[in-house]
Amino acid sequence: MYSSLYIHIPFCHGGKCDYCAFFSLGDSTQELRMQYLARLEEEFAEHEDQCTPLRSIFIGGGTPSALFPEELARLFNAIRKHFTLESDCEWSMEANPDSLTVEKLHAVLEGGVNRLSLGIQSFQPRLRKRIGRRGTLQTLPKLVETARKLGLPKLNLDLIYDIPGQNMTEWDSDLKEALALNPDHLSCYSLIFEERSPLSQRLSPPSCDDFFLQCWHRNDEVLSAHGLPRYEISNFAARENRCRHNWEVWHGQTYLGCGPAAVSFDGMDRPANPANLASWLSHAPPTHDLLAPDARRREIFAFAFRTVDGWPWELLQDKLGLKPENVATLPAVQQLIDQQLVLCDNKGICPTPKGLLFNDEVLAQLL
Ligand code: SF4
Repeated sequence: MYSSLYIHIPFCHGGKCDYCAFFSLGDSTQELRMQYLARLEEEFAEHEDQCTPLRSIFIGGGTPSALFPEELARLFNAIRKHFTLESDCEWSMEANPDSLTVEKLHAVLEGGVNRLSLGIQSFQPRLRKRIGRRGTLQTLPKLVETARKLGLPKLNLDLIYDIPGQNMTEWDSDLKEALALNPDHLSCYSLIFEERSPLSQRLSPPSCDDFFLQCWHRNDEVLSAHGLPRYEISNFAARENRCRHNWEVWHGQTYLGCGPAAVSFDGMDRPANPANLASWLSHAPPTHDLLAPDARRREIFAFAFRTVDGWPWELLQDKLGLKPENVATLPAVQQLIDQQLVLCDNKGICPTPKGLLFNDEVLAQLL
């Protein structure tokens, strides 16, 4: 059974950003959005019986705010028609300040969204241009003020750092401007150079890690001082404001993914919808990613080392049936402990700060 829901909105507004690796169309017509919503509703109906009351919903993309107010309302009504929500269900939606309007904000908050995630990426016009980020942030302060006035409980802002040519003054300024908007949660991602992206055609990744490391440590220092400690490689928030959806996914939660390119996880299989709107609209089946049960358990175990908490013993027992004595003696775990990448104590097993920074190394040894 699925406990969470992810919905992929495959539309953006005004073109694609140069660094983007997500499946989306740079623009859309009303007709296409209507076809999408009709097919999405069919997909909800096909799977509604496989869902428990939902613990979280995450509407991502693409750019969900590319939908018009009446389209957003149609989407939210369809969710409520087909699924039961837990009373405290966390309901997140991503939005781009460039396509979000006050009218859409009303639709979003009246529809039930209680966590809004705004894609800022950078406040610096020069760096936005460098990475080919579309749109402007002109309406951002007004949008945040209105969202709070309308009762938005949780606000996340997304930022990108380690942009070639960026300096520390610019990153400090981005953190400062983001914090001035009083977010409950910040996501700070280092820039990824996706193969064949327009960005990779015109820029090369930085040749050394020095600036990345400086930013990594600055994030810990500045954000903890503002009550937003790191709880995952790229995510910062007080415990009560952590993103429930992502936190649970990192700990093996099952989720239903709807929309083109959306992936589901049922505990064993990861069915992936086609990353092609026409194929998805014409009911092309998902591809499957079946692993042997042991390999899947190892994958779930390893994935939680993205988070500072790793596995509290009780949760590990609950999710994977593993006890401290089963884990601490595994050769890979012992080696990670010896390398000071992992810490094992009476509370659980988790990455050390070094293990979080070198998560690739931890994953490689555990998988
Ligand atoms: S708005 Fe987001 S999803 Fe759309 S092109 Fe830009 S980065 Fe990609």
